[in-house]
Amino acid sequence: MLSDKLLKRRLATGEHFLPRLVFWFFVILLLYYFAGKCYIVIPGRVYPGVHLAMEFALIITATCASLMSWYDYKYKFEIRAIVLCLTFCTVAMIQFVHAVSYKGMPDFLTPNTVNKASTYWIISNLFMGAGFLTAVFSGDRVRRIKVNRVLFFWIMGNLLLVAAVAYFLPYLPPMYDPGAGKQTLLKIALEYLIIIMLALPVLKIWRKSQMNKQGYYFCMALITGIFSELAFTLYSNAYDTYNLLGHILKIISYAFILKVMLDDAVGMLYETNRTLEKQREMLAETNLQLQEKDRLKDEFLANANHELRTPLAAVIAFTELLREESTGKLNNLQKDYLNEINDSGRELLDRINGFLDLSKIAAGKVVLYTEIFQVNELIETVVRRVRPLFNNKGVVLEVAPFPNESLQVLADRDKAGQILTNLLSNALKFTPPDGNVVVDTCLDESGRYVAISVKDTGIGIAPGEQQRIFEPFYQVDGSAARKYGGTGIGLTLVKKLVELNGGTIKVSSNLDQGTTFTFTLPVGEKDGGELSNNVE
Ligand code: ADP
Repeated sequence: MLSDKLLKRRLATGEHFLPRLVFWFFVILLLYYFAGKCYIVIPGRVYPGVHLAMEFALIITATCASLMSWYDYKYKFEIRAIVLCLTFCTVAMIQFVHAVSYKGMPDFLTPNTVNKASTYWIISNLFMGAGFLTAVFSGDRVRRIKVNRVLFFWIMGNLLLVAAVAYFLPYLPPMYDPGAGKQTLLKIALEYLIIIMLALPVLKIWRKSQMNKQGYYFCMALITGIFSELAFTLYSNAYDTYNLLGHILKIISYAFILKVMLDDAVGMLYETNRTLEKQREMLAETNLQLQEKDRLKDEFLANANHELRTPLAAVIAFTELLREESTGKLNNLQKDYLNEINDSGRELLDRINGFLDLSKIAAGKVVLYTEIFQVNELIETVVRRVRPLFNNKGVVLEVAPFPNESLQVLADRDKAGQILTNLLSNALKFTPPDGNVVVDTCLDESGRYVAISVKDTGIGIAPGEQQRIFEPFYQVDGSAARKYGGTGIGLTLVKKLVELNGGTIKVSSNLDQGTTFTFTLPVGEKDGGELSNNVE
């Protein structure tokens, strides 16, 4: 890739351009001198082949220039680009017709003559002169048009023009006088007109205070074009060295144009590449900053939660001491208030623990103590602990019969208990009194995982919400006036804990009918029981 400095140097204004232009001017004069000095008429059997080769070089260059301007327009919408596209399209088409109208080529629409070829030639060059003039004077103006449609109609118009010229040639002023064996005065006058059309853009570019690389090459193209036209005013025989020089200079002129376009396209590519590279670097930097901020946030959350837990634990412990009446008798109202303080304190502690766990998982600081244990033991312990809450609300909690009493899993026992407790407390929260909740266990189809499901007859979750509920802080009813409490991190934590233990979790639900959460844990070896520590 080009360095900034090099690129700037390449594209920047060039004080070296003027000497180069003068040098080129002298080269052309030298060519003129030789064309005059070594004036010959090239033999008729050699010239058509040479002429045809040169014409096809011109046609190919013009076609490439037209296509490049077409692409250019599609990106920049500059009038200049579409004008050049149409100009080179006409030049390529009419130049082709000119080439096939020459002597020795099969007749085209009407019999071929030198006058027919010369007429097409002058038309093509008039278009070229007018096109360059318009392109340069339209500056950087931009306009959106339907370029493909315009190009289509333009090509059709050109075809019509070609046919019209072929058929109406006897009625058009002649460009070549076969009797005198030379071009007519009108043809020479038109060549001068083209020279003026090419000279005006050069003056316009010249008047700019500083010329850039593109301007320089464009000037070279125009000046070479002027000298090419001049050579065509000088020839007396269509096969002489001036005619040959005119063709050669025309090819060079078109090649300069192609170079301007290529430089422009390549420059644009470099520019785009550089912008992309810069953006990529900025994104990488922002990413690093974000990662650092994320880490600081997690650290802060973990510390803040830890700091909150200590005084809260003291509040809970002292309310329990007071409740036990070790410091004196309490009346019923005082007992009720203390119970309220204790319950709220515990609820708050639960939530803080949830945040702490989540931030620990995010910071990758969770320690897993995996062991092999029996699933029924785990379920019974958790169910025993939460059953009073279910009884209080009037929701029936059942445990389906175990398919195999000795079903074992390899997981962190506490974390597995936390997962089940969380799912059961959600089931309780979202199931109205008289509903029921069932905990079921089975071996999954592969035989490698134990699936534990918690099925309730609660409010259910709409299909569109079922995947979102695992996102942090997402609640189906997230309004301030929501009916059910909570922080929206329970299921996020559950999912992360399940995944840390090597399992998966899924939900199936029908609105107003109930929800089933099923999570899996890897099956433990029957003869296992070894304790292992995994640090995540
Ligand atoms: P919350 O603290 O709000 O319970 P969770 O992450 O545990 O947060 O749950 C997220 C949301 O998923 C809940 O707010 C609720 O809308 C929905 N949800 C969870 N479990 C159930 C369930 N058993 N029945 C119906 N909706 C549920």
